[in-house]
Amino acid sequence: MGRIVQKYGGSSVADAESIKRVARRIARARGEGNDVIVVISAMGDTTDELMDLALQVSPFPKSRELDMLITTGERQSAALLAMALSDIGVDAVSYTGSQAGVITTPIHGNARIIDITPGRVEKALDEGKVAIVAGFQGVAQTTKDVTTLGRGASDTTAVALAAALGADHCEIYSDVDGIYTADPRIVKSARQIRMISYEDMMEMAAAGAKILHLRCVEYARRENVPVHVRSSFTDNPGTWVVSQEELKGTDMEEAIITGVAHDRGEAKITVVGVPDRVGNAAAIFQTIADADINIDMVVQNISDLSVEKTDISFTLPAEDGRKAITAIEHVKDKVGYETIRYDDQIGKVSVVGVGMRSHPGVTATFFSALADAGVNIQMISTSEIRISVIVGAQAIDDAVRAAHTAFGLDAESDATVYAGTGR
Ligand code: ASP
Ligand code: MG
Repeated sequence: MGRIVQKYGGSSVADAESIKRVARRIARARGEGNDVIVVISAMGDTTDELMDLALQVSPFPKSRELDMLITTGERQSAALLAMALSDIGVDAVSYTGSQAGVITTPIHGNARIIDITPGRVEKALDEGKVAIVAGFQGVAQTTKDVTTLGRGASDTTAVALAAALGADHCEIYSDVDGIYTADPRIVKSARQIRMISYEDMMEMAAAGAKILHLRCVEYARRENVPVHVRSSFTDNPGTWVVSQEELKGTDMEEAIITGVAHDRGEAKITVVGVPDRVGNAAAIFQTIADADINIDMVVQNISDLSVEKTDISFTLPAEDGRKAITAIEHVKDKVGYETIRYDDQIGKVSVVGVGMRSHPGVTATFFSALADAGVNIQMISTSEIRISVIVGAQAIDDAVRAAHTAFGLDAESDATVYAGTGR
C-alpha cells in the first residue's frame, strides 16, 4: 500500500468528458490499493477567462478580490471531479486549499506556503476516501484571507501536500510526456529526459521551461519528494525529478548539458548616459526593487572616459516593463541619466547541466555554435550550472537548435512528440 499525490493540470480536465477520464485514472490508482490525494487545476483556460472578466469590470481590481475570484476555478474542477468519482463507485471528497490546511503568507497573487496542516485530508484518507484539493490556493495565516500562490502553482500545492502527508512520490499530469532536452515545438529531434536532478530542473524552470513551477521544484528538493512528470493522455513513463544521488550510476550522470531552455517573456531596459558616480546604480535598482520588480541579468558598460558616462542594461519580465520605466523616471533628476531605451523583441536562451561544473569549454562550445548560426549575443549571464544569453527575438529558435546540436543532444530520429501546452 502506497500513498501518492496526483496533480492534474488544466488541459487534463478541460471539459466534462476529460473529468470523467481523469476520474477513471484516479480510480485505477486507488484500486491498486494506494491512498490517493488529488490536486486539481482549473478547467482549461478558466483562470485566464476569470482574469479577463475581472479586467472588464475594473481596470485595477484589488488583489484580494482577484484571489477570491480566480480560486473559484479550482473549486469547480475539484467538486466536479468528486462527483465523477462517486459515480464510478469511488468515495471522494473535495477541499479548498484553506480546508486542506494550506497556510500562506498574505501576499495576494504570489503567496508562499508557510505551513500545511492537512488534518481533514488525513481523516478522509483514513476513511478510505480519495481527497481532492483545489490547487494553487491557501489561506493567509495573518489576515485569514484566501490567497493564490502564483500562476501555474498547483504543482507547488501538490508537492507541498506530498511532503506534509509523507507520500511516496508526486505525479504531475499534463498533456506532454514529460521533460524534453528542448521544446519539441522548436527542436524536432529533442529527446525526452528519463531522469533529471532537482538542481537541473530548478535551473531549467528558472530559465523559462514552463512545465514545472519553479517553487514546486525548490520544495521537492528541500523535502526530497520524487516527482514524476507525465501525460494524463497516455500510459507512457514520463520524467522523474530526483536527487543527484539517485542519478548516480545512470547514463544521466554522464551528461554535461541536460537541456536547452528558452524564455520569450523578458524585456531589456537600457539606462543611457548614466554619470559615473558612486550610488547611481544603487539608486536605479532601488527604485526598481521598490516597485516590486524582479530583475534578471545586469550589464554595465565601461564608462566613456571623455564624458564619464556609462550605460546600464538589465532584463526583467516584459509584463513589468511599463512599471519599471515609470520607476526609473522617478529618479531621473537624482541620477542625471540621459534617456531610457526599452526593447521587448528579445529572448533568453540557456544551456543547463550540473555536468558543466567539471567540464571546461562549455561556454566556448555554446558561443561558437551561436556564431556559426549567425546569432548575435546581446547579454550573457552564468551560474555554476547554467549559461544564458540574450538574443534578438527572431533568433531564439535558431539559437536553441544550434545549442541542442552542439551539445550532442539531438536524437537519431525525430521524436514523434505530441507537443501539448504542458499544462
Ligand atoms: N489555474 C492556475 C493557473 O492557471 C493554477 C495552475 O493551473 O497551476 O495558473
Ligand atoms: Mg503547470
